Amino acid sequence: MPVEKTEVLVVGGGQAGIAASEHLGRAGVQHLVLERDRIAERWRSGRWDSLVANGPAWHDRFPGMEFAGNPDAFPGKEAVADYFAAYAAKIAAPVRCGVTVHSVQRLMGRPGFRAETSQGVIEANYVVAATGPFQRPVMPQIVPDTAEIMQIHSADYRNPAQLQAGAVLVVGAGSSGAQIADELNRAGRKVYLSVGPHGRPPRSYRGRDFCWWLGVLNKWDLEAPPTTDHVTIAVSGANGGQTVEFRRLAAEGLTLVGRAASFADGTLHFAPDLVQNVRRGDADYLSVLGEADAYVIRNGLKLPAEPQARLIAPDPACMTHPILSLNLAAAGVTSIVWATGYGLDYSWLQVAAFDEKNQPKHQRGVSAEPGVYFMGLPWQSRRGSAFIWGCWQDAKIVTDHILKLRSYLAYETARQPAAAGA
Ligand SMILES: Cc1cc2nc3c(=O)[nH]c(=O)nc-3n(C[C@H](O)[C@H](O)[C@H](O)COP(=O)(O)OP(=O)(O)OC[C@H]3O[C@@H](n4cnc5c(N)ncnc54)[C@H](O)[C@@H]3O)c2cc1C
Repeated sequence: MPVEKTEVLVVGGGQAGIAASEHLGRAGVQHLVLERDRIAERWRSGRWDSLVANGPAWHDRFPGMEFAGNPDAFPGKEAVADYFAAYAAKIAAPVRCGVTVHSVQRLMGRPGFRAETSQGVIEANYVVAATGPFQRPVMPQIVPDTAEIMQIHSADYRNPAQLQAGAVLVVGAGSSGAQIADELNRAGRKVYLSVGPHGRPPRSYRGRDFCWWLGVLNKWDLEAPPTTDHVTIAVSGANGGQTVEFRRLAAEGLTLVGRAASFADGTLHFAPDLVQNVRRGDADYLSVLGEADAYVIRNGLKLPAEPQARLIAPDPACMTHPILSLNLAAAGVTSIVWATGYGLDYSWLQVAAFDEKNQPKHQRGVSAEPGVYFMGLPWQSRRGSAFIWGCWQDAKIVTDHILKLRSYLAYETARQPAAAGA
């Protein structure tokens, strides 16, 4: 059977794959996008039912198309998936759905790569890995499977009705954990929320969404995280968009606890770091307000002052008298939702593009293996890289590099006829 050939093989038809396709198409580079499910499948079936975008519609989009409806609203996950499907149609992206890439290896003795897919072999000169930044749910091994309690990762959480009756412990207070805990609390569940280190920018300040502030303050373009510790960001577009305020959640009935540390004899022990983590989140919040105020003064903007945004509510009882251990059965906890993030899984990409810890070895998406590129990685080139608008910009960097490499490789071909005639 003849082997199908393409110049660039893009693996994954989420936003990163569609962004890559747009830039490659504009540059006239022949390519093919393979998606194992449907376009933007993770937005459709890999998130909980009520999820809305973390950024408003005017912001969380590609430059070439706006969302229908109110630009200040936070589109639901289906609307986001529909947006990418419509975008792919608009740019006539060559996406082939329902095709899984099982492996990619370098060809031996000639340039290029060989992909084994669920629909046969494809050879390509370049490969763009756009399989997503959040591929493998990570659950710390704290509570053994033998403990009689339902444990799921936030990737598998869909809605409150899915969980057994009883109290719920949500571990992780990034955007996912904070939103899921809030939803469960509103649904009348008793909720414990384990809060680790986090940042929590204001949802809006002085009439502008935080996405706008981070944009004008050049913070989406930071090229490296401000600290080496991984600090999650708690933001939410749910319920029209509110600042994540852990004290307010506590006032609404939720019980805050520190980082989940260990488990023995049915009792979960928490680190004594709740107050420190919440205060650190406050400091992050207040620092954004401070930078925003300075920007307003420097630029003479007429944005309404918002002094009440600086008022931090008193510490709730769960902070003044933190719970350091919780016997789950005695507290009626029947489920744990681990909102503890994701890891990468590039087991299909069998090339020399990974370091000794199996992490992608790359600069701005250009991998250590010439001809192989990554898309959509967190901090791939900047803070915005794993987000909708950021991956679109990274796709340009990747495409430009493919064009550059292609021009070097064309040297040989261009010289050959002259050499033969000399
Ligand atoms: C809960 C949550 C909420 C988020 N909210 C926002 C938000 O509001 N705004 C924002 O900007 N960002 C948000 N993000 C971050 C980011 O935008 C999303 O994670 C987004 O889905 C990443 O897009 P991607 O194309 O890089 O990866 P994915 O959406 O994961 O797409 C990768 C695609 O590759 C396919 N694939 C994987 N392996 C193979 C294979 N071997 N062969 C063929 N196909 C394959 C998958 O089916 C998938 O469709 C959120 C992330 C999470 C987890």
